[in-house]
Amino acid sequence: MGTYVVIGIVPLLLIASTILHSVQDYFIEERKKELLSQANVISGQITSYDYMADKEIRDTLEETMLEMSQRHEFRVLVLDSSCFVVYDTGYSDVGKTVLIPEVIEALENKDISRVQENGMVYAAVSIYGSNNTRVGVVLVSDDLQDISDTVSNIAKKGNLILAGLAIIVIIVMVIISQIFTEPIKKMIKVIQKMSEGYFEQRIQVRSQIHNEVVDLALACNQMADQLEKVESTRQQFVSNVSHELKTPLSSIKVLSESILLQEGVPQEMYVEFLHDINSEVDRMAAIINDLLTLVKLDQKEIPLNFKETDLSEMTEGIIKRLLPLAQAKNIQINYDKTKEVSAMVDEMKLTLAVANLVDNAIKYTPENGKVQVNLDGDHQNAFISVSDTGIGIPDDEVGRIFERFYRVDKTRDRETGGTGLGLSITHSTIMMHNGSIKVHSKDDEGTTILVRIPLRQNI
Ligand code: ADP
Repeated sequence: MGTYVVIGIVPLLLIASTILHSVQDYFIEERKKELLSQANVISGQITSYDYMADKEIRDTLEETMLEMSQRHEFRVLVLDSSCFVVYDTGYSDVGKTVLIPEVIEALENKDISRVQENGMVYAAVSIYGSNNTRVGVVLVSDDLQDISDTVSNIAKKGNLILAGLAIIVIIVMVIISQIFTEPIKKMIKVIQKMSEGYFEQRIQVRSQIHNEVVDLALACNQMADQLEKVESTRQQFVSNVSHELKTPLSSIKVLSESILLQEGVPQEMYVEFLHDINSEVDRMAAIINDLLTLVKLDQKEIPLNFKETDLSEMTEGIIKRLLPLAQAKNIQINYDKTKEVSAMVDEMKLTLAVANLVDNAIKYTPENGKVQVNLDGDHQNAFISVSDTGIGIPDDEVGRIFERFYRVDKTRDRETGGTGLGLSITHSTIMMHNGSIKVHSKDDEGTTILVRIPLRQNI
């Protein structure tokens, strides 16, 4: 606010004082000109009427001078060539010698009008004699009291106006600084609360007008939404991990306790229970493996190992590896490629991502179904699609299948042994390749997943 006031008032003061000085200078200049012209008039008359010699003319002229001096309120002195006062409208200096610089300059050189340090204006004009010689000087003098009175009057009024303006400026500045600083103070409070972990805090935006402060508040609220989302995803993730690991652990506990607490358990039961325990351990290992893969993908600072890769060869390899799973369910896998496509990819990670899609297609397709894998490309992208004639995904759940641990129907899924992390891994991998992934699915009819990968990467 201090800055605003200085910026608002200091220029006003400077302008006012400059104007006042200019007005004063103007008045003084005008006064100097006026006195000089009056002195010229008097000196002209004295010169033409031979004032110094003729007594009668001298009386008339002195009367005129007195009348002029009274009318204009200045003083007239007539001096001879030795600076001796011959006539003074103030009478007091008659007979004295006046040796001021203006008189000497007028006698020697040229007529002059000047302000002296004592605040008086002197106009000195020479009087010419018969043979054009300077025989005396008319000295007109005046004080500048009236001018200083006028100027100080203007200054008084100006100061009043200035004071009024200053008050208005201060009030306006206080209001402006309130308008700008109050919301910022509120924002700081809310942001401090957020930094303590209270992400539900929001800044109240009541103003309808959009200015930078309102935009800042809205941006802060958006950031808070995002933080809240991240926090709730994190909490959900932790609770999902715990839950997913707890289920196999509980089974292991129940299985092992039932063997331990029973006496004389037959050999076949041992084998059967140990077999079950073993598959639960496998399940836990699978979950932990997938989690580790996701964590590695999340650590963006670990760069992908991009290499020119033959995608056709890569896809064929995946299908070959998963063929036994398909054959076990009598599912027919077809692979078509429109052309040879090679791209800059991290082969290991992309293989895992695409394998997850083919694996899902086999898992979620009932026996005797069909899985179709296609590879295509243009001058910028490679396209891989995996379609199946499986159980499909309900419309309202399609958007969620990339979430960590999300499974469409848990009961359907238990027997498939999935972890709910496969598609998250695929999604993260495709995103890290700057590609995209889309799902088209119809419940009970089948699913198509379409992946686009750019052929080149800006590394
Ligand atoms: P999971 O390990 O359970 O397969 P994913 O992340 O790979 O986990 O998939 C998430 C969920 O999406 C699956 O549990 C399944 O319900 C659904 N899903 C994925 N692929 C298909 C598909 N091809 N057909 C039908 N449902 C699918």
